[in-house]
Amino acid sequence: MKVQTAPAVLWLQLAPDGHYRLLQRDAGRSLLGRLPAHGRLDEALREAGLPALCVERLLDLMRAGSSNAWPIRLPDATGRAVELLLSTSPPVRPPGPPEAPADAAPDAAPDDGSVQALVTLTPLAAIEHRGELADTDTEIATGADADADRRPVRLRLDAQARLLQIDGPWAAVVGLAPEACIGRPLADALAPQAVGTWQGLLARARAGTLDALDRRQPMPLRPQPGSLRWIEFSALHWHAGDGPSAGGWEACFSEITTNVRQQQLQHIRERALDLTGAGVVVIDAMSPRHPMVLVNRSFCRLTGYDESAILGRSLRFFTGIPNGQEGAATLDQALREGRAAGAVVASHRRDGTPYWAQFTLTPFHDPDNGLLTHVVAVLADVTESRELIARLSQQSAMLHAVHHDNPNGLIAFDEQGGVCLQNAAVKTLTGLYLVGLTRRKCFEALAALADEGAPDLETGLERHGWLQWPVRQPRERVIELRRIQQDSRSAAMLLVLRDVTAETQLHQMQREFLATAAHEMRTPMTSIRGFAGLLLTEAVAPDVQRELIGRIHHQSLRLSQLLNDLLDVSRIEAQGQGGPLVLQDLALESEVQDVLRTLATPEAADRLQLRPAPRPLVVRSHRAKLTQILLNLVSNALKYSRDRVTVTLTFDPAEGCAHIAVRDQGVGLSQAMMSRLFTKFYRVDPDGATQGTGLGLYIARTLAEQLGGRIEVCSELGVGSTFTLTLPLAGPG
Ligand code: ADP
Repeated sequence: MKVQTAPAVLWLQLAPDGHYRLLQRDAGRSLLGRLPAHGRLDEALREAGLPALCVERLLDLMRAGSSNAWPIRLPDATGRAVELLLSTSPPVRPPGPPEAPADAAPDAAPDDGSVQALVTLTPLAAIEHRGELADTDTEIATGADADADRRPVRLRLDAQARLLQIDGPWAAVVGLAPEACIGRPLADALAPQAVGTWQGLLARARAGTLDALDRRQPMPLRPQPGSLRWIEFSALHWHAGDGPSAGGWEACFSEITTNVRQQQLQHIRERALDLTGAGVVVIDAMSPRHPMVLVNRSFCRLTGYDESAILGRSLRFFTGIPNGQEGAATLDQALREGRAAGAVVASHRRDGTPYWAQFTLTPFHDPDNGLLTHVVAVLADVTESRELIARLSQQSAMLHAVHHDNPNGLIAFDEQGGVCLQNAAVKTLTGLYLVGLTRRKCFEALAALADEGAPDLETGLERHGWLQWPVRQPRERVIELRRIQQDSRSAAMLLVLRDVTAETQLHQMQREFLATAAHEMRTPMTSIRGFAGLLLTEAVAPDVQRELIGRIHHQSLRLSQLLNDLLDVSRIEAQGQGGPLVLQDLALESEVQDVLRTLATPEAADRLQLRPAPRPLVVRSHRAKLTQILLNLVSNALKYSRDRVTVTLTFDPAEGCAHIAVRDQGVGLSQAMMSRLFTKFYRVDPDGATQGTGLGLYIARTLAEQLGGRIEVCSELGVGSTFTLTLPLAGPG
């Protein structure tokens, strides 16, 4: 890059306490001209017009013994903004006593650990062009080398701006022979859109109001095949003549096509950078604090901060909150080491909204010396994709749960009819791994689990969409198979396998229960009907009549007992599926005594004996249910024995339980009888001498379990039985 104005070079001596002495100043008086000969450097630079951020940075660099350069904008002596390159040389210790410069402060300390450094302010572009025609030889700021001819073209024009005289590389620049243009307006050589600008220039030059910046407006020439060239006037003067039609112009222009193109390209590059949507900041890697020195619009838009709030800060400003983020540490380290890196951090926009920021760092090295000069950080707002990923992983976890933790087996068939997926339950239910098998092989493998002669699976599914299928392997089960198919034209489908063994067993039991209940009722009903019919049709003697009515009464009692027990069974089973029972603390001994009192008919009273507990026992229980259990156990003991019945209360401190043992010396039970004792309708009464329904013990055991207890039996045929009810004690036993 070539420049027009001489740079300002300041040779400074900097003391450790921040004071400086201006040892020498070369040229560039218009830049930082107000800098005094000594003082505090930071204050002096700020007062001389250097922006605070630049001062901080300059001092940082000097303290760090580093050198760097960066572009700044500064008002010059006339107050006009000038683009400058501010640079500092690496500070060095002075070799010996410094030469006393003419304007040096007499009291400056020469040898106190001070360092010396050069600070240079180099103008980047011409702002004020004071020269007349002689100045037009000055080179254009940038990129003139590739243009047709860098020499200026000098012109004389008449009052109507027609060409009178042409000197210089006109043909090379304009593409027309000079002779062909003489006498024609210069405007003819310009592109149509530049004609207005040209006329404006002429008008202002004639009025004497044309300033240098106006004059330097790039103007496109009339396009030649394959090229569009640009020129810039470095001089345009009006000479008034003697007569009214006299007068004319002197002008000088140069070609600036390459320069314009570069500026256009630069502009497009900057626009393109803004259009990307990604935030871009350039970080000064040579400055110890790594300040951001360049920022694009997208970065400002994404973060909500404007350029002035970003420049000079470190990237930590955007990655440091909340503290201790792993991603922020990664970026910090990469910056320190000058490495490429990327990380996602939680950040906040200026208005406080949180977002996920993905930063990608790319180091830039000086192509000449390989030194790391800058790092480009690209920022992308990845909030949406982070949230999407989070949602997706949540969904996939749910799907995984649905798929894998589902107790039902799922077998998925793809478009080609092959098994593409099975969940864990399939293996549990069938013991098979079917993935990869064709549809036919899969059904063969499933069919092999059932007995020979089982209905054909595929046909059954085809016809009804589901079927129940008893298998023997890996153990006996009833599996319900259901086919789910979205599109009947596609082979893709889902097969759902459900273990319905318990359900089918329950249905079976209910059927059996109904059949048995009906059977049990039929016997007394038949007797009642038979005896009643006899009484109606036959003339029977009064004593026989009485006998028959007695039997009818007996059977109706049996029937009503059966109905009561059946109602109890259905109530108890329904309650088992209901909510928790409301329990209360009950003094066990008094509950047992109540039951014994109920059963102590005159004939039975002396057969009952209660052996009380060594200490009072309180159970957490339900009075009505406890009474029903005790009534059943004690009445059974009386029913199935003629001898003494002993009721003993004990407790087991280890398990916190109370035990109520009902012991009789009665008919007793064999092992085979005991194994079926608690099932519905089971009775041992070969001669039908004892009344009963065979539901009492089933009800008692179900109630005991509902109260958190159990009933155990110990018996010997012909010797007697002991039924023990165990219940949890209230509080610590
Ligand atoms: P039920 O007494 O109405 O027949 P249970 O369910 O109470 O019905 O008893 C079922 C069967 O268990 C009785 O029929 C009887 O054969 C046998 N059983 C119950 N308690 C005793 C006992 N203390 N001694 C001997 N057998 C008993």
